[in-house]
Formats: sequence, structure tokens, C-alpha cells
Amino acid sequence: MSYSYEAPVSQALFDRASVVTPGGVNSPVRAFRAVGGTPRFMVSGDGPYLTDADGREYVDLVCSWGPMILGHSRPEVIEAVQAAVARGTSFGTPGEGEVALAEEIVGRVAPVEQVRLVSSGTEATMSAIRLARGFTGRAKIVKFAGCYHGHVDALLAAAGSGVATFGLPDTPGVTGAQAGDTVVLPYNDLQAVRDAFAAHPGEIACVITEASPGNMGVVPPREGFNAGLKELCAANGALYISDEVMTGFRTSKAGWYGIDGVAPDLMTFGKVMGGGFPAAAFGGRADVMAHLAPAGPVYQAGTLSGNPVATAAGLAQLRLLDDAAYAKVDAVSAEIRGLVSDALGKEGVAHRVQTAGNMFSVFFTSDEVRDYEDAKRQEAFRFTGFFHSMLAAGVYLPPSAFESWFVSTAHDDRAIERVAAALPAAARAAAEATGEGVRA
Ligand code: PLP
Repeated sequence: MSYSYEAPVSQALFDRASVVTPGGVNSPVRAFRAVGGTPRFMVSGDGPYLTDADGREYVDLVCSWGPMILGHSRPEVIEAVQAAVARGTSFGTPGEGEVALAEEIVGRVAPVEQVRLVSSGTEATMSAIRLARGFTGRAKIVKFAGCYHGHVDALLAAAGSGVATFGLPDTPGVTGAQAGDTVVLPYNDLQAVRDAFAAHPGEIACVITEASPGNMGVVPPREGFNAGLKELCAANGALYISDEVMTGFRTSKAGWYGIDGVAPDLMTFGKVMGGGFPAAAFGGRADVMAHLAPAGPVYQAGTLSGNPVATAAGLAQLRLLDDAAYAKVDAVSAEIRGLVSDALGKEGVAHRVQTAGNMFSVFFTSDEVRDYEDAKRQEAFRFTGFFHSMLAAGVYLPPSAFESWFVSTAHDDRAIERVAAALPAAARAAAEATGEGVRA
């Protein structure tokens, strides 16, 4: 498939990058492999807009995959960062900023009595799993197909479906031994979890789940699913870990916990809490967190953990995220969802917009998407034409049909009007898509 518009400077940068960086990118989805075409190299962000190296401006509906909930270059966040940088960038000692950020997290999310700061969501889930294993003295973990928890070896097992399927590594480099203690179950299926506990009595350290999944597209938990997980974990001596790296401080002041009220034993955070910098965290019950070094025997550490610039950015962002800010993001999300659905409906394109708070994604199917198998049944080929039509009209969407879209408080009427103007042609492109010549 070829596209009628070009991005010569981005293409030149991509060519240069491809010489020195595998695939030309530092995180695979950025390479546009699912949709084809030239990845846009961005040079600046302002409010709801990104500007690429060719000087073209886009309405940003990715928001750095979630973190930029206040939009780009929000002055208060930039000022906090500049003030922190002026004081020095890393000390390798404790500092007040990390205490304040930890207090902000503990103050917002009731189940988090103590929290440890790290630098990425991957580190947060990896450490939470280690802590759960150390705390329980058990080896096995349960995860759900389609849930992404970062590139932790044991969590890159998502293959297989059905009851208590043992994880098979999804990628070369993860050994059978690393994935072999991972039980992968279909999402939204409590009976599968019951069966797994019955099949492995006394062996399961934890169940880890995205609080509301956004990594197979947005597939919210069914009523009672998270509560059921908590109950089953408690009944079987396992810890319930809710991964809120994506939903945390995005879907409400207290993330998804603020919506469903189900208290996990451990939680993981990232994205929004870093204000666009590498800051993440895991936390939860004080008696469990007490097992972490130096208070306890489970080792975990980081040279840049609690970095003063990252914590300043995160704290400044969180302090701006009050009820009014969430109401605004929710309203923007609802408006854009409505516009997308109207445009696709007018062209007779079968679709479903699924939401989790202000996160949402568009599935090209009319059936409810409850798990990863459902998600994979959508007509993803329709997304390719839709995506490129939007891109050509100056709207930057996630370059995959299996990702959440993200909006911010900065998406104002002008930005939304631009999205609205781009949609009719994109919906037509989706309607006309045949799937021929599209890479799987
Ligand atoms: N957990 C969830 C739910 C995520 O969405 C992600 C990243 O998208 C991660 C963990 C990993 O976070 P990071 O990319 O910061 O390592």
C-alpha cells in the first residue's frame, strides 16, 4: 500500500536511525510496522499538538501512550522541571521530592500504604512479582492473555488459551524456565482462575492483571471480575496485583481503583505519575512492602530511582490533576468517541468503541470484545486506511488497532474540530479497506 503524502525529513531520520538502532526505533510500536509508512519523528509538543521534523502539526491522540494527561509542555510542569534541573540532576541519595511524590501516591490510592519508586513500568511489575514470590514463598504467577505488563521475562508469556495453560515464551530470549512458572488465562474468565488455583494448590504467588486492560485495545473488566480475583487470591493465600501503569492517575484521581474500589494487595504505576519522565512505582500493603530491602530480604534497587527531576515533574503533574481536570479529560474523551462512532456509522463500518474511564479504543467489529481472542477477531485491516487518512489530515493516532487512544486536558475545541474534520474521509477509507496487501 502506498500513501499519497510524504514526510521526507522523518524518512531521512528513520533511515539514519535504522543504521544505528535495531528497526530504527527504541520501542517497537513506534516503527509503524502494523500500519506501514514512515514513522513521524517529532520535534516538539504544545498542548494537544505535536510537530514533526517536516514541520507538520498533528492533534495528538496518543499523549506519549498515556503520560501527557495535561497535554505537552504544560507551563507549571516545565517550570518545576527547570527548577529541579537547576538544583542538579541526580544525587544517588534520598531527597525530599521522592518523599513528596510517595506521599501524593499514598494520599490518593488508599490500598497503597507504602510505595517504592522505580524508573519504568516494566521495573515496577518485575519488582512486584519478585516481592509477591518472596512474600509467599511460592513460584507460580497467573497473568491474562492480552494483558501487557512491560517486557519482564516471566510476563512475556501470553500464548495459549483455555484453562491453566502453561506459559510459552512469546519471544526468543525468554527461556521455558523463565516462562514456565507463568500460568496464562483468558481475560474476564473467573472460572479459569478458580480452575488454576485448584490445579496448583499452594503454588501460586500472585495473580497480576491490568486494572482495566488497554493493551489489547480497551477491554474493561466485567462487573465483579476484579472483586472475584481479589476474593480468589485471598482464599488461596496468593497476592492480587493490579497493574495500574496505564490507568493509574489517568482514569480518576485514584486510577482504576477510584472507579471499581477493589483494593489490591500490590499495585504498579508509571506513565502519568512521571509527568513525561521515567518515574514509576509499586506499592501496597505495608506488611508486604516490609519484605523489601533494606527493611526486609527481597532485593530491589535503582541508581536513578526517585530521580529529582523525574519526581519534580511527576509531582507537579499530579498536583494539577484535580477533579476538574479529570472531568475535562472525561468530557474530551466522550466527545471524540462520539465523533468517531458517528463517522464510522455514517459509512456503515461495523465498529465498537470500548471505554475505561477516559481511555478508549475503536474495534472494527460489532461484537463485544471481552478478551484477547475477541480482540483478534476484529477487522484490523480497516484500521490501516483509517489511521493513514487521519495522519494525512493532521491527527496522530496510535499506530495499531490494538492500542488505547489517550486524550488530555489540553484538547480544546480547535483540536477537537480538527479531529472531526478528519473523520469523514478516514471512515470512508475504513469502509473501502479490503485487507489486501496489508501486513499481518
Ligand atoms: N504495565 C502496563 C499496563 C503498561 O501499559 C505498560 C506499558 O505500556 C507497562 C506495564 C510497562 O511500562 P514501561 O513501558 O514504562 O516499562
